Amino acid sequence: MVRKMDRVIKSQKLLIDGKWVDSVSGKLFRTINPATEEEITTVAEGDKEDIDLAVAAARKAFEKGPWRKIDARDRGLILLKIMELVGENRDELAWLDTVDNGKPISETTNVDLPLAIDCLLYYAGWTDKIHGETIPVRGEFFNYTIREPVGVVGQIIPWNFPLLMAVWKIAPALACGNTVVLKPAEQTPLSALKFGEICQEAGLPDGVLNIVPGYGPTAGAALAAHMDVDKVAFTGENTTGRLVMRAAAGNLKRISLELGGKSPNIVFADSDLDSAVNGAMTGIFFNQGEVCCAGSRLFLEKKIHDEFLEKLSDRANRLSVGDPQDPNTQMGAQVSKEQFDKILSYIDSGKQEGAKIVTGGERSGNKGYFVKPTIFDEVNNTMKIAKEEIFGPVVSAIAFEDLDEMVKQSNGSPYGLAAAVWTRDISKAHKLARELKAGTIWMNTYNMFDAASPFGGYKQSGFGRELGMHSLELYTQVKSVWVNLGI
Ligand code: ADP
Repeated sequence: MVRKMDRVIKSQKLLIDGKWVDSVSGKLFRTINPATEEEITTVAEGDKEDIDLAVAAARKAFEKGPWRKIDARDRGLILLKIMELVGENRDELAWLDTVDNGKPISETTNVDLPLAIDCLLYYAGWTDKIHGETIPVRGEFFNYTIREPVGVVGQIIPWNFPLLMAVWKIAPALACGNTVVLKPAEQTPLSALKFGEICQEAGLPDGVLNIVPGYGPTAGAALAAHMDVDKVAFTGENTTGRLVMRAAAGNLKRISLELGGKSPNIVFADSDLDSAVNGAMTGIFFNQGEVCCAGSRLFLEKKIHDEFLEKLSDRANRLSVGDPQDPNTQMGAQVSKEQFDKILSYIDSGKQEGAKIVTGGERSGNKGYFVKPTIFDEVNNTMKIAKEEIFGPVVSAIAFEDLDEMVKQSNGSPYGLAAAVWTRDISKAHKLARELKAGTIWMNTYNMFDAASPFGGYKQSGFGRELGMHSLELYTQVKSVWVNLGI
């Protein structure tokens, strides 16, 4: 499918104060199609000066603009209009994320877009339901609380679900009446820019949403450190999360972090094995394994270990890996050369540490950043491939017999984003749900998401919960008001 960029998005510039502008430096950066290794287009490269302008615009829009003062229901109507226009532009948005990220068009069309639309619908419905309490205090006083927006919000997002991550962050922030400066990932800026155009068309007032594409250590760092940003929300790697947290300390801005994972996917002998195989496939090969909650450590009860791996490798071998624009493709390209090289070096390290390749273990084809679905067996929980986040289609199978030892190993990771349990024994499943240290537990399913259900990490997978009513906590602050009734 050949489409011209200038038809899909009008502007590859920065969106600041309702205008599409060049960066102050005039610099551009290239965005690459990882399936072909060719340049798609160039985009204006934001840096500190541009972040300063964007934050000033967001501040003006917050303090003087109508956004936080208009009727809450009218904010909801604008979010609904944005939702409607995302729906109308769904093919273009899906195409942009596929060309920019390398993920299959069937997934951008059937997963990313519907989830983004649903998220907008969900938060449009919250705008007029964010309210305080009246509190029975001692004495002749009337005490009540108001939930107010936090102010100017900086949002830094990764490249694995470019549009969806933007919407997860922008929709609740806007619903609560904040103004936003978004920095998309440098690998995948295009769908966010298209989303900016859509927001303008929907009538979002100038300066309420500003979008500054650029690199992490420049534009991203400037946003995290900015003294006039009230809150920063970040999704990305742990090492970057630490930098963001440090930078945020300057003005003690509020912060929420959604970081990496090394999630255990635990299969018991009493599970429905075919469903569990499906779950293991989705757990690690969905989105080329570029999922922070990927089921990258596969704990298999010894009794079913051999049968399970046979079924899983048979399925993995039949996955169609290739042209992301082909509707039949199930696994596309890794996002970048850097990511591709990193995954291959983890595969080497697994081989060197003595893990056994069941299938895959190398690149697929010789052009584009494709990696074969890879299964390692005989993995020990202390090997590098079991400890570090690979962010690729590489799963480490670990056999277990003893339940307590398996739980210890499952929890024996600095991460705690998600965990899954496959069993027909509901008591065992619920008991494990309590014992596993993770922000999301899936039972007999994997990678389930809904705009209404909270998502976020335990331990070093981060803090703060996105989605659901929990996201409102991130984007509001509580004011307590006292009235003397005794005079
Ligand atoms: P990855 O290595 O997988 O790209 P990152 O954590 O580096 O993950 O990137 C996630 C987001 O964080 C991107 O938008 C990136 O530009 C941004 N980023 C990277 N470094 C920094 C930094 N020092 N400060 C703020 N943001 C950063």
